[in-house]
Amino acid sequence: MRDKFKEFRADIHCHTTCSDGSDTPLELLRLAQRSDLQGLSITDHDTFDAYTPEFFKEAAALGIAILSGVEISSELDDTSVHILGYGYDLHHAGLKQFLALMQEKRKMRNRAILKKLAEHKMPITEEELQNFANWRTIGRPHIAQLMVQKGYVSTLRDAFEKYLREGALCFASGLRFHPKEVIEIIHQAKGKAILAHPHFIQKGAFLRKLLDLPFDGIECYYSVLDKALEIPWLKLAKERGWIPTGGSDYHGAIKPHISLGCSWVSEHIFNLLKGHGSSSSV
Ligand code: AMP
Ligand code: FE
Ligand code: FE
Ligand code: ZN
Repeated sequence: MRDKFKEFRADIHCHTTCSDGSDTPLELLRLAQRSDLQGLSITDHDTFDAYTPEFFKEAAALGIAILSGVEISSELDDTSVHILGYGYDLHHAGLKQFLALMQEKRKMRNRAILKKLAEHKMPITEEELQNFANWRTIGRPHIAQLMVQKGYVSTLRDAFEKYLREGALCFASGLRFHPKEVIEIIHQAKGKAILAHPHFIQKGAFLRKLLDLPFDGIECYYSVLDKALEIPWLKLAKERGWIPTGGSDYHGAIKPHISLGCSWVSEHIFNLLKGHGSSSSV
């Protein structure tokens, strides 16, 4: 039973087998309990498939509070930007349609990557990729794992560094929704739009342009990064009246150095993202 004196901690950035994580949503709930978390938000890439009635039932049985979440891919000036959506309505038809369209765009983008890999004598068929990734949001991490499995590269890191990272030999862009469109659809679904891991965005004109968009918050606490790196983002959140969020970006086996709960938010932030309370007291 939950100890009422225990500090409330919620990991609100993690991935499951619905996208590129290796734990199923139910496995992640049990891991959250073992990790002493009281709250959780699963933020799979471009899907909220994890949020089934069975998932909510298990969360209730384990006493873990749930916040709806998703991490949506967008592109600005040919650069990928991840936007987290929280507290949105899981039944919103517009958001569902938007995510279905993202899945279609992903299929076309993945096809373009496979074509380039074949041109570089590293063939992977669409069928192989589909079977490997099962029913998940399929993306570069799955392609990278297949490249290792087939012996084309020795590590996932090599797959990304040599071939799949932005600008590399076999990269193809194609998830071309503008961040503004993504923020808009999250807002239409009554959710909060948060700029994910800004720590990785190059400072300068691009970042300034991005920060002009109507976000509700920014991910200040992130994964296993040095604590000092949080400071500028916390300051920015305060200046803008934005919600400072955080989470581990747990993926399980593909990022084994990241454990669930290594970064987290308080009950206050968790509730703000749920749409309860005002951000003036953050
Ligand atoms: P996609 O959504 O298909 O463009 O793939 C992006 C995902 O790939 C990110 O969310 C990460 O999970 C993963 N990723 C990106 N860069 C790397 C890397 N260097 N090593 C391992 N995984 C990576
Ligand atoms: Fe990922
Ligand atoms: Fe991300
Ligand atoms: Zn993530």
